[in-house]
Amino acid sequence: MSLPSRASYRDIPLYSPSKVKCGVDLSDNTNLFGMPPAAERILRETATAQVSRYPVGYAPDLKQAVARYTGVDASRVTTGCGSDDVIDSTLRAFLEPGDVIAFPDPTFVMMSYFAKVNGLRYAAVPLKADFDIDVDGLLATGAKLIYVCSPNNPTGTVASRAALERLMDAAPGIVLLDEAYAEFARESHLDLASRPNVLVTRTLSKAFGLAGLRVGYAVGNPTLIAEVEKARGPYKVTGLSERIAAAALSEDVPWMKARAEEALAIRARLVDELGKLGLKTLPSEANFVMVPLPGAPAVAERMRQRDVNVRAFQGLKGIGDALRIGCAPWNQIEAALGALRETLR
Ligand code: PMP
Repeated sequence: MSLPSRASYRDIPLYSPSKVKCGVDLSDNTNLFGMPPAAERILRETATAQVSRYPVGYAPDLKQAVARYTGVDASRVTTGCGSDDVIDSTLRAFLEPGDVIAFPDPTFVMMSYFAKVNGLRYAAVPLKADFDIDVDGLLATGAKLIYVCSPNNPTGTVASRAALERLMDAAPGIVLLDEAYAEFARESHLDLASRPNVLVTRTLSKAFGLAGLRVGYAVGNPTLIAEVEKARGPYKVTGLSERIAAAALSEDVPWMKARAEEALAIRARLVDELGKLGLKTLPSEANFVMVPLPGAPAVAERMRQRDVNVRAFQGLKGIGDALRIGCAPWNQIEAALGALRETLR
């Protein structure tokens, strides 16, 4: 007897980056500078009773904290189990199976996965040679929802303000702007979420160093937010995560900013050292750099044998093979550089 399954799910693999356990892991762009202090205090203080009751539906305290942090009204905020969940809920909220979404190529690898699990088709539109988004190309897809990530994972490059505005002016449907790495960038575009057709997603997984907590959020027009919340359901963020994330957003912003500054200073040193190895990085505004390098997957494998995990990509559009290296305290970067030097020798 064959067990029931969805035909469209047959070719969907589980997400499995090469996650071999390594002493140094620079593969997922998280903040490796420790846990924010207020978040840690709440984690230690929280009474065990907290976990026997349901949290309040739609995490209102977290919405308030996000609203204060981003300077918008709480009616303009929704949250989720990581920004992964917010993006997934957004696709479910606005699109029917068979609809088309568009996104730049390369971009966040999970987008094609989210499209497939929601029965959507997708159009991947190459980034321009200067790594800005191709507005006309994205619009030409006629997609009901256009996703743009800036700073972009995995390139670290940004979309220009002018391109974003032109895209949002002309898009026939929703523009979903993913700002997971906004805290590292020179410019944020969160203000664009005041437009009627725009949602901006963010996360506590990167600059705030709380990836294991699984908290993300979106800011946008209250009407759009209400639709996303229908798809999200009431209890996506645990009560414990809500308390810790709200504390981090309220009290740990100076800590986060200092760590982000540190990551950027380390990024500059890393770019310099890679240059000495003859490797040219893409212009990054995130806490990682992309290094085009033919044979990158094999290089990453040899680095893993030296206890260092970096993310490798194969045949990226317009870039080719490349490594993506996250910024961490310098001793970890030194270990990565050592492994890379030995590998390239
Ligand atoms: N968007 C981008 C661009 C990312 O790189 C990531 C994490 N890899 C996410 C969203 C999802 O992050 P999280 O679910 O942890 O908020």
